[in-house]
Amino acid sequence: MITALDLDALLGREITSICTVGYSNRNDNRCAHFVSHVLGYQFGFTCRGMVEGPGTPATIRVHELFPHCASVGTWESKPAILNRCLVFITKAPNVNLSAKTIVNVPRKHVGIFIGGSIWHYSNTRDQVVKQTPAEFSRHYAPPDNAMFYGEMP
Ligand SMILES: [Zn+2]
Repeated sequence: MITALDLDALLGREITSICTVGYSNRNDNRCAHFVSHVLGYQFGFTCRGMVEGPGTPATIRVHELFPHCASVGTWESKPAILNRCLVFITKAPNVNLSAKTIVNVPRKHVGIFIGGSIWHYSNTRDQVVKQTPAEFSRHYAPPDNAMFYGEMP
Protein backbone atom coordinates (compact mmCIF):
# COMPACT_ATOMS: atom_id res chain seq x y z
CA MET A 1 0.00 0.00 0.00
CA ILE A 2 1.34 3.42 -0.98
CA THR A 3 2.37 5.65 1.92
CA ALA A 4 2.98 9.36 2.41
CA LEU A 5 6.70 8.57 2.53
CA ASP A 6 6.51 6.82 -0.85
CA LEU A 7 4.80 9.86 -2.32
CA ASP A 8 7.26 12.27 -0.71
CA ALA A 9 10.01 10.35 -2.49
CA LEU A 10 8.38 11.33 -5.81
CA LEU A 11 8.24 15.07 -5.11
CA GLY A 12 9.88 17.09 -7.88
CA ARG A 13 9.94 14.15 -10.29
CA GLU A 14 8.85 14.58 -13.90
CA ILE A 15 6.38 12.18 -15.49
CA THR A 16 9.19 11.01 -17.80
CA SER A 17 10.88 9.40 -14.78
CA ILE A 18 7.64 7.81 -13.56
CA CYS A 19 6.20 6.40 -16.80
CA THR A 20 8.51 3.67 -18.07
CA VAL A 21 6.26 3.21 -21.11
CA GLY A 22 7.61 6.56 -22.27
CA TYR A 23 4.47 8.63 -22.71
CA SER A 24 4.93 12.26 -21.72
CA ASN A 25 3.10 14.46 -24.19
CA ARG A 26 3.33 17.95 -22.70
CA ASN A 27 0.06 18.97 -24.29
CA ASP A 28 -1.85 16.35 -22.35
CA ASN A 29 -3.09 16.43 -18.82
CA ARG A 30 -0.80 14.17 -16.80
CA CYS A 31 -2.60 14.14 -13.46
CA ALA A 32 -4.47 10.86 -13.95
CA HIS A 33 -1.38 9.37 -15.58
CA PHE A 34 0.70 10.10 -12.45
CA VAL A 35 -1.97 8.85 -10.02
CA SER A 36 -2.47 5.67 -12.04
CA HIS A 37 1.22 4.77 -12.29
CA VAL A 38 1.64 5.25 -8.55
CA LEU A 39 -1.46 3.24 -7.64
CA GLY A 40 -1.29 0.70 -10.48
CA TYR A 41 -4.54 1.51 -12.31
CA GLN A 42 -5.11 0.22 -15.84
CA PHE A 43 -8.74 1.18 -16.44
CA GLY A 44 -9.79 2.16 -19.94
CA PHE A 45 -7.24 3.89 -22.12
CA THR A 46 -3.62 3.68 -20.93
CA CYS A 47 -0.33 5.28 -21.90
CA ARG A 48 0.43 2.11 -23.88
CA GLY A 49 -2.39 3.18 -26.18
CA MET A 50 -0.35 6.29 -26.99
CA VAL A 51 3.17 4.85 -27.30
CA GLU A 52 4.83 1.43 -27.35
CA GLY A 53 7.28 1.03 -24.50
CA PRO A 54 8.49 -1.23 -21.70
CA GLY A 55 7.04 -1.44 -18.21
CA THR A 56 3.54 -1.38 -16.81
CA PRO A 57 1.01 0.91 -18.53
CA ALA A 58 -1.39 3.14 -16.59
CA THR A 59 -4.71 4.91 -17.03
CA ILE A 60 -4.35 8.43 -18.41
CA ARG A 61 -7.92 9.76 -18.30
CA VAL A 62 -9.59 11.27 -15.23
CA HIS A 63 -13.08 10.42 -16.45
CA GLU A 64 -12.12 6.74 -16.76
CA LEU A 65 -10.73 6.70 -13.20
CA PHE A 66 -13.68 8.29 -11.38
CA PRO A 67 -16.28 5.55 -12.09
CA HIS A 68 -13.96 2.90 -10.60
CA CYS A 69 -13.89 4.53 -7.17
CA ALA A 70 -15.67 2.38 -4.58
CA SER A 71 -17.59 5.44 -3.39
CA VAL A 72 -17.61 9.11 -4.30
CA GLY A 73 -18.94 12.30 -2.78
CA THR A 74 -18.35 15.99 -2.25
CA TRP A 75 -15.13 16.81 -0.40
CA GLU A 76 -17.17 18.29 2.46
CA SER A 77 -19.00 14.97 2.87
CA LYS A 78 -15.82 12.86 2.96
CA PRO A 79 -16.06 10.51 5.95
CA ALA A 80 -13.43 11.48 8.55
CA ILE A 81 -12.37 7.83 8.71
CA LEU A 82 -11.45 7.96 5.01
CA ASN A 83 -7.84 8.97 5.49
CA ARG A 84 -6.62 7.88 2.06
CA CYS A 85 -8.55 8.53 -1.11
CA LEU A 86 -8.44 10.19 -4.50
CA VAL A 87 -9.39 13.84 -4.74
CA PHE A 88 -10.94 15.36 -7.85
CA ILE A 89 -11.45 19.02 -8.70
CA THR A 90 -13.65 20.43 -11.45
CA LYS A 91 -16.81 22.48 -11.94
CA ALA A 92 -19.57 20.91 -9.82
CA PRO A 93 -22.07 20.36 -12.68
CA ASN A 94 -19.44 18.21 -14.47
CA VAL A 95 -19.90 15.54 -11.81
CA ASN A 96 -22.83 13.18 -11.43
CA LEU A 97 -22.40 11.48 -8.07
CA SER A 98 -25.18 8.89 -8.37
CA ALA A 99 -24.04 7.83 -11.86
CA LYS A 100 -20.39 8.17 -10.72
CA THR A 101 -19.35 10.08 -13.81
CA ILE A 102 -17.24 13.13 -14.67
CA VAL A 103 -17.76 14.87 -17.98
CA ASN A 104 -14.64 14.81 -20.14
CA VAL A 105 -13.76 18.51 -20.00
CA PRO A 106 -10.24 20.01 -19.97
CA ARG A 107 -10.57 21.64 -16.55
CA LYS A 108 -10.52 18.64 -14.24
CA HIS A 109 -7.70 17.37 -12.08
CA VAL A 110 -6.99 14.49 -9.71
CA GLY A 111 -4.58 13.86 -6.86
CA ILE A 112 -3.90 11.42 -4.01
CA PHE A 113 -4.97 12.37 -0.48
CA ILE A 114 -3.27 10.68 2.45
CA GLY A 115 -3.40 11.87 6.03
CA GLY A 116 -4.09 15.53 5.33
CA SER A 117 -1.86 16.14 2.29
CA ILE A 118 -2.51 15.91 -1.44
CA TRP A 119 0.13 14.78 -3.94
CA HIS A 120 -0.57 15.53 -7.59
CA TYR A 121 1.11 16.26 -10.89
CA SER A 122 1.43 19.97 -11.61
CA ASN A 123 1.22 20.42 -15.37
CA THR A 124 2.44 24.00 -15.13
CA ARG A 125 5.49 23.10 -13.02
CA ASP A 126 5.85 19.72 -14.79
CA GLN A 127 6.56 17.85 -11.57
CA VAL A 128 4.99 16.06 -8.62
CA VAL A 129 3.92 18.50 -5.90
CA LYS A 130 2.42 18.24 -2.41
CA GLN A 131 -0.26 20.60 -1.14
CA THR A 132 -2.82 21.02 1.59
CA PRO A 133 -6.47 20.56 0.56
CA ALA A 134 -6.90 24.36 0.88
CA GLU A 135 -4.04 24.96 -1.57
CA PHE A 136 -5.36 22.27 -3.92
CA SER A 137 -8.78 23.96 -3.91
CA ARG A 138 -7.16 26.92 -5.70
CA HIS A 139 -5.88 24.72 -8.55
CA TYR A 140 -8.63 26.27 -10.66
CA ALA A 141 -10.47 29.52 -10.09
CA PRO A 142 -14.15 29.32 -9.14
CA PRO A 143 -16.47 27.88 -10.37
CA ASP A 144 -14.13 25.16 -11.65
CA ASN A 145 -12.81 24.26 -8.19
CA ALA A 146 -15.45 22.02 -6.61
CA MET A 147 -13.69 19.13 -4.85
CA PHE A 148 -14.81 15.51 -4.64
CA TYR A 149 -13.41 12.46 -2.91
CA GLY A 150 -13.21 9.00 -4.43
CA GLU A 151 -12.51 5.88 -2.42
CA MET A 152 -9.41 4.31 -4.01
CA PRO A 153 -10.27 1.48 -6.42
ZN1 LIG B 1 2.56 5.86 -18.42
